[in-house]
Amino acid sequence: MRILGIESTAHTASVGIVDEGTQVLASATDMYRPGKGGIHPREAANHHAEVLPDLVERALSDSKVDPGTLDAVAFSQGPGLGPCLRAGATVARMLSLSWERPLVPVNHCVAHLEIARALSGFSDPVLLYASGGNTQIVAYAHGRYRVLGETLDIGVGNFLDKLALGMGSTFPGGPWIERWAKEGKKVHELPYSVHGMDVSFSGLLTAARALQTKGVPKEEVALSVESHAYAMLCEVAERALAHLGARELVLGGGVACNERLRRMVEQMAHARGVRVYAPPPALCVDNGGMIAWTGLLARERGISVPVEGSEVLPRQRTDQVEATWRLRLREHISEA
Ligand code: AMP
Ligand code: MG
Repeated sequence: MRILGIESTAHTASVGIVDEGTQVLASATDMYRPGKGGIHPREAANHHAEVLPDLVERALSDSKVDPGTLDAVAFSQGPGLGPCLRAGATVARMLSLSWERPLVPVNHCVAHLEIARALSGFSDPVLLYASGGNTQIVAYAHGRYRVLGETLDIGVGNFLDKLALGMGSTFPGGPWIERWAKEGKKVHELPYSVHGMDVSFSGLLTAARALQTKGVPKEEVALSVESHAYAMLCEVAERALAHLGARELVLGGGVACNERLRRMVEQMAHARGVRVYAPPPALCVDNGGMIAWTGLLARERGISVPVEGSEVLPRQRTDQVEATWRLRLREHISEA
C-alpha cells in the first residue's frame, strides 16, 4: 500500500509519501517563519496554500511515485490552528477527488507516536511528545492513545521560542537556546513545575526573563532553562513508565531534536532498563511522512471519510480517535 500524507497543523507545510515496505519514500517540507509577534494563523495558512501544490510535486518526483499507484490521501485533521489545518485539508480533498482515492483523516499527535513506533520497531512505547504547541505523555490503552500528562499552559517549544526571541534569536528559538546552552557554565535556580503527571512553563518563562534582565549571560540562562525544563519532562516520562510498567519510550516533536534532552532521557531510561528511541530530526519535527504512515495504518483497517465529512478538528484530542490498527483480535471481537 502507498499513501500520500499532508501535514499543516501549525508553521510547517509538508507532504510525505510512504509505502508499507520502505516506510518514508519522500517528505517535502516548507516552514512558515513568523516575525517577532509569533505565529499568525492566517499568514501561516496563506503560506501553506501557496507552497503545498509544489510540495506535492516535489514529493512525487523525489519518490518517483506515479500518483496512479497511490492508494489513498491522508491529512492532519487536528489538533492545530484552524486556518492552517483547512489549507492542508483543502489540498488533500482536491487530490482525493481528482485521483479518485479515499481520504484518510489522521490525528497529528498519534502520528508522532506511530512514526517513532515504526522506525524503532517497538511494539507498545510511551511517547514523550515535546513540540512547539504540544507537550504530552501519550500511551496506548484499550483501543485508543491516552494523554497521561501534558502541559498546563504553553508547549515547551513555544516556551523556548518566546524566551529566545527576547534574547535576540530568530524563529525557531529552540536551536538557539541549544547553541547558547552548550557554552553555559553555571546553572541558576528556576521554578520547577511538575504537578503529578503535568508540567507548566509560564512560571519558568517569567523567571528566566527576570534572570536575563538581571544581567545573567544568555549562555547561563539557556543552560539553566534547558536543565530545568528537560528534567521536568524526564520526570513525567519516568512516572508514566513506572505506572505502566512500560519497557519502551519514544520521543517526538521538534524539541526532541535537542541533544541534551535526548541524553537526559536516555540516562533516565537506561537506569530503568527501558529501551529508548528518538527519530532522526526530520521525522521528529512536523512532517508529512508521519501523516502518510499513520494514514497507511488506518487505511489498512479500511478507514476513510467522505469529502463532505472531512472537516478539520482544531481541538481534536488524542483519545478521541480510535487506533483501530492497534486492536488485537480479542479486543476486536469484544468491541463488535
Ligand atoms: P514542531 O512543533 O514539532 O514542528 O517543533 C517545533 C519546535 O521545536 C519549535 O518550538 C522549536 O524551537 C523546537 N526545536 C527545534 N529544534 C530544537 C532543538 N534543537 N532544541 C530545542 N528545541 C528545538
Ligand atoms: Mg507536532
